Amino acid sequence: MFASKAFAAASATSPLALDTINRREPGPHDVQIDILFCGICHSDMHFVRNEWSDVFPATYPAVPGHEILGRVARIGPEVTKHKVGDIVAVGCLVGSDMTCPACQAGLENFCANATMTFGSVDSFGTAPTTYGGYSETIVVHEHFVLRVPPGLDLAGTAPLLCAGITTYSPLRRFGVGPGRKVGIVGLGGLGHMGTKIARALGAHVVVFTTTPAKADDARRLGADEVVISRDANQMRAHAGTFDFILDTVSADHDLNQYMALLRLQGNLTLVGAPPRPLALSAFSLIFGNRNLSGSNIGGIPQTQEMLDFCAAHAITADVEVIAIQQVNEAYDRLLRSDVRYRFCIDMASLRNG
Ligand code: NAP
Ligand code: ZN
Repeated sequence: MFASKAFAAASATSPLALDTINRREPGPHDVQIDILFCGICHSDMHFVRNEWSDVFPATYPAVPGHEILGRVARIGPEVTKHKVGDIVAVGCLVGSDMTCPACQAGLENFCANATMTFGSVDSFGTAPTTYGGYSETIVVHEHFVLRVPPGLDLAGTAPLLCAGITTYSPLRRFGVGPGRKVGIVGLGGLGHMGTKIARALGAHVVVFTTTPAKADDARRLGADEVVISRDANQMRAHAGTFDFILDTVSADHDLNQYMALLRLQGNLTLVGAPPRPLALSAFSLIFGNRNLSGSNIGGIPQTQEMLDFCAAHAITADVEVIAIQQVNEAYDRLLRSDVRYRFCIDMASLRNG
């Protein structure tokens, strides 16, 4: 084991603060990564504040962070996929049993024995739970370490590891492309990636935002149209016209008003994970044979496909790079939807701080 500096929360009500955690020595198939950048996902905040206590209870100390970009520092003797010095990335998953039908299908995210990057039992016994990317280093089995195509801005690439794959996966699953009218609800970290990716896939993209000041940005990011969702007239104008809507909202909101915008048999997919249940009228589904789905990040092969797709289309996240000492302030701003459009921590601030 070796020690690594990290930012951790000691309880659901504590701010994140400097701490020291243990990482395991790299095993035969492990890659040790010096973390350069880590994006701040709203899930980090839901988790450390224990807002998902029913389904994913937090344990403390909690070290969040699953949008990890770094440089390979050491490798185990059996590693073939990566070499020392490579720029690599890690997302929400650091382990799975690699034998079950889900793993065999490249859907490690649905493995019953998946190990999440933070908050899972640490099967190596290095620590009570896994610790995420708000840290200097991480040690991960090579299978869960992604190749970063050359030429991408590194800070802007980190958020692809969650916000990118979480939006790419359902957009692909539901055949988003030319001739399809697609809605993106909420212009935050996930929403702005969904907007860029849906545009690159060739769809007609409509962004729904509660923040009128984001309208110009939405168009710059790839929206063909912008709807201020608190304006009932603007919403009504789109009734019954969408093939697909991707809902990225992190808090309680009215799903029914979006279901009404779907065409016959259209689909709304939830990726946003508000802590409390959302109210759904049966008629939102009955009228128009409409469908409501969910989507959970993506498997490792599709995550690599997404990185390669983003490189081919010159897509990265729009990031506000911060020092780790600003992380608590960033969380407060995230809660106010005040992020353009992903905070990304420059980990040099932890190393040198
Ligand atoms: P984020 O950057 O905070 O973006 C969420 C956006 O939702 C905000 O920017 C805001 O957009 C809108 N919003 C916030 N509060 C709202 C409210 N009360 N009513 C209506 N709209 C509201 O968060 P994120 O990192 O993109 O994450 C979004 C959600 O996805 C979180 O719940 C996160 O946990 C979840 N998530 C799920 C997965 C998965 O695998 N399914 C993966 C990652 C994250 P506007 O200002 O444009 O209205
Ligand atoms: Zn995330």
